[in-house]
Amino acid sequence: MSTELENYDDIRDAIAKLCMHFPGEYWRKLDREMAYPSEFVEALTQAGWLSALIPEEYGGAGLPLSAAAAILEEMQRAGCNAGACHAQIYTMGTLLRHGSDVQKQKYLPSIANGSLRLQAFGVTEPTSGTDTGALKTTAKLDGDHFIVNGQKIWTSRAEHSDLMLLLARTTPLKECMKKTEGLSVIIVDMRKAIGNGLTIRPIRTMMNHATTEVFFDNLKVPAENLIGEEGKGFRYILSGMNAERILIAAECVGDAKWFTEKSVSYAKERSVFNRPIGQNQGVQFPIAKAYANMRAADLMVKEALRLYEDGKNPGAEANMAKMLAADASFEAANACVQTHGGFGFAEEYDIERKFRETRLYQVAPISTNLILSYLSEHVLGLPRSY
Ligand SMILES: Cc1cc2nc3c(=O)[nH]c(=O)nc-3n(C[C@H](O)[C@H](O)[C@H](O)COP(=O)(O)OP(=O)(O)OC[C@H]3O[C@@H](n4cnc5c(N)ncnc54)[C@H](O)[C@@H]3O)c2cc1C
Repeated sequence: MSTELENYDDIRDAIAKLCMHFPGEYWRKLDREMAYPSEFVEALTQAGWLSALIPEEYGGAGLPLSAAAAILEEMQRAGCNAGACHAQIYTMGTLLRHGSDVQKQKYLPSIANGSLRLQAFGVTEPTSGTDTGALKTTAKLDGDHFIVNGQKIWTSRAEHSDLMLLLARTTPLKECMKKTEGLSVIIVDMRKAIGNGLTIRPIRTMMNHATTEVFFDNLKVPAENLIGEEGKGFRYILSGMNAERILIAAECVGDAKWFTEKSVSYAKERSVFNRPIGQNQGVQFPIAKAYANMRAADLMVKEALRLYEDGKNPGAEANMAKMLAADASFEAANACVQTHGGFGFAEEYDIERKFRETRLYQVAPISTNLILSYLSEHVLGLPRSY
C-alpha cells in the first residue's frame, strides 16, 4: 500500500503564525549587515520545529519527511529564509542512520532540545567541486585520534553550529579501487577545534547565507567520532541526499508561492494607463505560467515524498523535484520583478532579496547540470558524460 500524504494544515498554520514575528524589515536589516537570524532560529528551536525528524525516543517529534517539507515550505512562503537553519533538521540523518547507539545517545537528545547545533556539513572543496571523490582533505588515524588536514569551501552555518559532519579521505586514493571509496564521515566538535587546528573564514555572497571556508591544520579529532565504517562515507552522504533535495525543493515551492502571491496582489492594485496592470495579458501570462510550473514541481515533490515514505529510493524523483522546483521558484521570482517594474528592485519590497536568495537553489546543494546528467545516465540509460 502506498502512503497517503497529509497536508499538515496545523503545522502550516503554526509556522505561518511564528513567521509573522519575522517580517520583511527583520530580514532586510540582517541582509544589509550580513547577519545571522539568531532570533528566528531560536524561535523555531524553542517551538521544536527543528527537531521534527528526530525520533521520539531521542526527544524529537518523530515526524515524517513530508511534515518537515511542510515546515520548510511555509517558512519560505512567509518570506523568511530557512537556509539559516534547514540543515539542523536533516544533517542529523547521517548520524541517525549510520551512527552507533553510543553516538546517537550522546548527540541526538541534545540536538533535539536545541542545546547542540549540528548544521554544518563539510563536503565541497575549492579544487574538486562537484567531483566529491577527488576531494583532498585527509583524516589520518594516529593512535586514538584522526589528524585532519585540508580545506572545505561553502561550509554554511559553520559559525553557528557546534558540530560539523566532515567528509574526508581516510584511505589514500591510490589504495582504492574507486575514488568514491576510502572516504569517511567524522563528527568534528568545532567548539573544541576552533583555534586548535580549525579556522573558519566567512565568505560574503550575493545573499545572506552565513557560508564560510574552513581550514584544517593538523586538527585532532577523536577516532570514536567516526560514523559507521571507515571508507564508506561517500555512501552515507549519498543516503541523505534524497531527503535534502526533497526538502530544498519544498522550500522552492514555498518561494514560488510567495513570489506569485506578491505578483498577483501588485498586478491587481497597480494602475497604469487608467487600468490595473494585471488586466494586460503581457503581465498576466508570465505569472500564470510560473504558477503552473510551481504546481507541476509541487506534484513531483509530493511524488518523491510518497516514494520516500514508502521506503523506496526516489533518487530520480528527488532530483527532478529539486530541479523543477528551483526552476519554478526562479521563474516566479523573475515574473515578480517584472510585474513590479522599478519597484521590483527596491529593497523595501523584499523581492530583490528573495530573488537573490532563491537563485542559489539552481546551484546548491547540487547544480542543475548534475541532475540532468544523473537523469540521462541513470534513468534514460545514456552513456556517462563525465
Ligand atoms: C551559498 C552556498 C552554500 C553552500 N553550502 C554548502 C554546504 O553547507 N556544504 C557543502 O559541502 N557545500 C555547500 N555548497 C556547495 C555546493 O553544493 C556547490 O557549490 C555545488 O554542488 C556546485 O559545486 P561547485 O561550486 O564546486 O561547482 P563546480 O563543480 O566547479 O561546477 C561549476 C559549474 O560547472 C558545471 N559542471 C561541472 N561538472 C559538470 C559536468 N560533468 N557536466 C556538466 N556540467 C558540469 C556545474 O553544473 C556548475 O554549473 C554551497 C554552495 C553555495 C554557493
